[in-house]
Amino acid sequence: ANVSVPIFLGKAVDALDNLSATSLILIIPVSLIAAYGIARFLHVGFGEIRDALFVKIGQNAIRRAALKVFNHLHSLSLKFHLNRQTGALSRIIDRGIGGIEFTLRFVTFNVFPTLLEIILVCIILINLFNWYYSFITFFIILFYVIFTFTVTEWRVKIRKKMNEADNIRGQKSIDSLLNFETVKYFNNEEYESLRYDQALETYEKFAVKSAISLTLLNAGQAIIISIGMIGMMVLAAYQIQDGTMSIGDFIIVNTYLIQLAIPLNFIGFVYWQIKQSLVDMENMFTLLKETTEVKDKPNAKDLNISNASISFQNVSFNYDQRRKIIKNISFEILPNQTVAIVGPTGAGKSTISKIFFRFYDPDTGAIFIDEQDISKVTQHSLRQQIAVVPQDTVLFNDTLYYNIAYGNPIAAEKEVFKVAKMAQLHNFIESLPDGYETIVGERGLKLSGGEKQRVAIARALLKKPKIFFFDEATSSLDTKTEKEIQNNLEELSKNITTIVIAHRLSTVVNSNMILVLNKGEIVERGNHKDLLEL
Ligand code: ATP
Repeated sequence: ANVSVPIFLGKAVDALDNLSATSLILIIPVSLIAAYGIARFLHVGFGEIRDALFVKIGQNAIRRAALKVFNHLHSLSLKFHLNRQTGALSRIIDRGIGGIEFTLRFVTFNVFPTLLEIILVCIILINLFNWYYSFITFFIILFYVIFTFTVTEWRVKIRKKMNEADNIRGQKSIDSLLNFETVKYFNNEEYESLRYDQALETYEKFAVKSAISLTLLNAGQAIIISIGMIGMMVLAAYQIQDGTMSIGDFIIVNTYLIQLAIPLNFIGFVYWQIKQSLVDMENMFTLLKETTEVKDKPNAKDLNISNASISFQNVSFNYDQRRKIIKNISFEILPNQTVAIVGPTGAGKSTISKIFFRFYDPDTGAIFIDEQDISKVTQHSLRQQIAVVPQDTVLFNDTLYYNIAYGNPIAAEKEVFKVAKMAQLHNFIESLPDGYETIVGERGLKLSGGEKQRVAIARALLKKPKIFFFDEATSSLDTKTEKEIQNNLEELSKNITTIVIAHRLSTVVNSNMILVLNKGEIVERGNHKDLLEL
């Protein structure tokens, strides 16, 4: 439809030019004008239909890609997440998703039709007029393409730097806002503002550079097209003088050139956008190439727990080869027993919970649950059976109910209330103006340390695990509440194998066995009475 527009227009002009006095013949120019109008409408109409049809495909591709990246990030090891920069990561994903949509839409439905359009225009020009026009058209396209590609390559480098600056900008603002309270404690608003402004300034520098380079590109393209246009129009003017060309032909040449400039410009723009999208997507796909450190073995089976006996055999582990954290520890826990690991800060107690939960695999030695080596079972089945109450509880920025029910999202309401009661939380929640619907704030910061800890205990109980791991689970509570919860937990853990981590012997009086850990080694083991005597 589009390539026929100039022909109808040119022919209509010729028909009008040759109009004789008899009004009957007006029917020819009028039908040519109508054909011109219809061709234009079809051109626009088909474009709109194409875009409307594509929306579903494009959006679906974006959804899949975003989900894939999200799932992949969740499958990565704790090590990756401890090193990641959340602000930068979210910018990378946002840009990557935008890039996918653009590339798909333009490569599939715009680049090929536009190339076809350019080829058709050249063929029509050769057929309608002499070869000079095709020759000039060919050189316009050639110069245009070479110029556009060369300048774009240069602009891509600027874009990469701009992306880096954008990541840093995102990271600085998120990190600063997350540390809002710390900023206030140290009156460092100005310092933060300065740091953020530095990041903004770098971004600004590259954004300006990028915009100026675009102006240069557009100006260069316009010069090439204009020179070509002048050449062709002058040629046409001479031919009109010879009588070898009509006014209508002149209009056809001019309209084709204008019509050629639009797709050429478009191709230049698309080339740049695709390059830019590829740069944006590259960052996102690099994330997908990030490999998981802790992997399931091929043919790993699900963990099958009957008694939940645990055995650590000569386990050693380091986060960094230069520093040993856990040194050759061995111990056994019989079914339904409670073992406490006590020791000074930095002894490696929480590290034991992390290797037990397989956030990391031990460097040497092995851990067994019911005689199954946990490094050989699927991580999912292992984690399903263990409930951990971590040292620092982080909550979702949602309601109290949501956070407790997170232990088992399909649990019935009465079960959620039951565990809240066991964690000494129910009465407190009922006394709140919004009750279970109270929003806990970002990372749970609207709750006190003790309240957060009780939510963590409640959701761990709701998981109904075969093994409990309490990492100083009651350390933020006052003595009375701690005692009450401990009584509840002891009652519960009578039938569940439990590992408790604590700083003080006084909090683990009723454990079946206490291991004293110091500098990654078990230095003493025995019950509470033995150790008190020691
Ligand atoms: P606390 O009683 O203070 O919680 P802990 O006995 O639980 O201490 P761990 O958290 O196990 O101690 O840490 C043991 C050592 O390992 C610490 O010196 C800590 O700095 C180091 N460490 C912990 N996590 C990492 C990590 N992801 N990368 C590197 N080193 C780490």
